[in-house]
Amino acid sequence: MSSPQQFPPREATVQEALQWISEGRCSSHDLVSRYLDFLETEGKELGAIVETFEAEALAAAKLSDKRREQGELLGPLDGIPFTAKMNITTAVGTTDASSAMLVGFEAGEDATVVRRLLGGGAVLVGKTSCDEFAMGATNETSCHGVVANPWDRSRVPGGSSGGAAALAGSHGWAFHLGSDTGGSIRLPAAFCSATGLKPTWGRVSRSGLIAFGSSLDQIGPIARDASDCALVLDCIEGADPLDSTSLHQLDESRDPIEKVALVSEGFGSGIDDSIREAVRAAAQEMEQHGVEVTEVSLPQLHAANACYQVIATAEASSNLARYDGIHVGSRVAADDLQLLYEKSRRAGFGVEVRRRILLGTFVLSAGYRDSYYSRAQAVRDLIREGVDHALEQVDALLLPVSPFAPFPIGERIDDPIALYACDILTVTANLAGVPALALPCGFDEAGLPIGMQLMGARGSDHRLLQFGQQWQQWTAHHRELPVGGAS
Ligand code: GLN
Repeated sequence: MSSPQQFPPREATVQEALQWISEGRCSSHDLVSRYLDFLETEGKELGAIVETFEAEALAAAKLSDKRREQGELLGPLDGIPFTAKMNITTAVGTTDASSAMLVGFEAGEDATVVRRLLGGGAVLVGKTSCDEFAMGATNETSCHGVVANPWDRSRVPGGSSGGAAALAGSHGWAFHLGSDTGGSIRLPAAFCSATGLKPTWGRVSRSGLIAFGSSLDQIGPIARDASDCALVLDCIEGADPLDSTSLHQLDESRDPIEKVALVSEGFGSGIDDSIREAVRAAAQEMEQHGVEVTEVSLPQLHAANACYQVIATAEASSNLARYDGIHVGSRVAADDLQLLYEKSRRAGFGVEVRRRILLGTFVLSAGYRDSYYSRAQAVRDLIREGVDHALEQVDALLLPVSPFAPFPIGERIDDPIALYACDILTVTANLAGVPALALPCGFDEAGLPIGMQLMGARGSDHRLLQFGQQWQQWTAHHRELPVGGAS
């Protein structure tokens, strides 16, 4: 009689799942098939997954098992399931950036990151929901519906990579590709108790990423822990002839992080007490393990969100100009060309996207360009200088990801200013182009996850991840799963 099928525990990381496979305790086919069940049930209930690729994924997993048998693995992630956010192109399925404008769009080719992962044997299992065109902090603006936070389904999972984080927060074995323009990997990771990295700008190719704010956008991993994120980064990073802004020279330093500074502005008024305390407690824990912890003031942080709103909307208005119903995007027929543009854009874009396009067009318009856009660029230089200067004294800067805990679905959706407040602590890393790693660091009294972030100098991505791995050996916050999920 055959013994019942065995699987790694639900919270198991990618590394642990790989161990199971390599020891022959389960196959990649078993793992992928069981993970697909999770996506079809809880993944769909959460609203996190839009499409799954069952036939393709199971066939790919079978091939991976064969390679393993023959000792011909393609890379360390061979046989491991992963998802891509709806704004990252894939040859299978659709890529619609969760917008009615692109619904049903088949890109027909893989983004560079996806191609590299598939080339390394990883198994693409589906596409995750996100805010429309990655504009949002709550995942309430997706044309596929609202995504729920697995820790409390009445609350938002954070955005815009909310689908990816909701999955990573509630199940292991897999990793997810998100994108981060102003916090969209880190905020949902913090809200769902997952680990996520926004890499140094240029480290990861943007070819195949649907552009939002090109000087800020980066693709990065969301997973259970920092060591899984490091495996993914190893596979996707590096120069790409299809993205002329991708970096040819990667800083390969793996020197340990020894000095960390708390950023005072991340602990001021407006930040929830429970969050301040959890991140300070994390700093103490680091000190107990021999890390030198100091405090630094970054007054430029107060200007970061205003600066971001100007630059991100300006770039968005330009990037989204192509969706006119003729070149790209769904068309609403009209007799007159101007009317066709207007009707197509009105029907295709949601309220938040339209708001950004209007704001961006305004800040770039003749007569206002100098007072808004050019000024924001000057402020961005100051922010970058401030961050660089602070990072000359220490190896990493530590602050919370979000000023508050995940809030109820619907609470802020009609109040854009309250929504933009979610981003006050995350946009700085994008403006400065530096890497930032979000790590779970505890829970508040209501049992809602709290996340902290570490920002490092440009190129120090692997140092941050290595430090994250260390921190996760000292603590167990990242092992927790929400109750209620079937095992
Ligand atoms: N919440 C931010 C915004 O709406 C960040 C989005 C992102 O990083 N894609 O602009």
